[in-house]
Amino acid sequence: SNSSVSTSHWPKYVRVNTLKTSLETAVASAQSFLGSENVSLHNVLDNLLAISPTVNNLYEWDLVKSGEVVIQDLSSCLTAAALAGGEGTTKWWDNSKTNVFLDACAAPGNKTTHLAALVNQASSKKTSNKVVALDRSGDRIKILQKRVSLLAPGEVVEPVHLDFLKTESNDSRFSKLKAILLDPSCSGSGIVNSPDRGGEEDTPERLSSLSNFQLLALLHSLSFPQVDYVAYSTCSINDEENEAVVSKALQEVNEGLEGGEVWELRKPLVLNTWTRRGKVVEGLTEEQAACLCRCNPFDGDETNGFFVSYFVRAKVPKSGDL
Ligand code: SAM
Repeated sequence: SNSSVSTSHWPKYVRVNTLKTSLETAVASAQSFLGSENVSLHNVLDNLLAISPTVNNLYEWDLVKSGEVVIQDLSSCLTAAALAGGEGTTKWWDNSKTNVFLDACAAPGNKTTHLAALVNQASSKKTSNKVVALDRSGDRIKILQKRVSLLAPGEVVEPVHLDFLKTESNDSRFSKLKAILLDPSCSGSGIVNSPDRGGEEDTPERLSSLSNFQLLALLHSLSFPQVDYVAYSTCSINDEENEAVVSKALQEVNEGLEGGEVWELRKPLVLNTWTRRGKVVEGLTEEQAACLCRCNPFDGDETNGFFVSYFVRAKVPKSGDL
């Protein structure tokens, strides 16, 4: 059960908010406020600090108060990193234009503001890429709005109170849409260090209702004709909400696709060295499962349980092209 995992030896993760400061400035401030011996850079993700577990005054650090850094679990940083990191050595979006990204289930906005930072790096200051952030809960979109006003100045995030399942691809807000981040409601079975979860077990009924919704939302994401990239994640460790949803979605969406197109799973570039990969379930090959990333605190990972998948729309070469 969740209570059997001790998290007291875990590092505390702090994301440097590059919309407001630089890694250098944040590291210098961390070293002086928290002590150099307590500060290190995460070995996989850029702009993520791993702070010693013994540090207990993070909330008094002025950069936390000002939103220049964000206390955010490592697992929670994987989705935006996977989506924005693409699969090549260069950014896959055209920075001479404004690109729109959609965070479909966005509140409270941790991944939204991370994505906004990643797609508006210093080198691309000329343009501002935008993240449209949806949530169907009015109360939660208000919390997101507050987070956004602290963390993402400059109108790089547009919060919208809307049910993602009711959106249509021809909505004018989506005309420049390129990619969708989908982090829908889940059982939260991977979360071990939050008071939000008391470690209660999920009933089979709840799990199947969650996975039905997750599949609908993923299929809806893959149905936008202007979208070529989708990242789907959960903070669940259940196959039923993770690989099984991915497998069903791939099967269903690719049956309906025409014109030599196919949705494929890809390894997110920035997570190339990630060791814990997805499980082989019905309908997924080993190669496909190896594209997926997981975290498992019940097996030694020093972060909450998590799952990330990254979908890319690809062209199937016609036999004449080969
Ligand atoms: N991505 C967020 C973050 O990192 O801060 C956490 C998202 S939370 C796991 C899921 C969110 O999806 C909830 O805020 C919930 O209100 C929202 N949600 C559930 N169903 C939705 C729907 N049909 N359309 C839009 N949002 C929805």
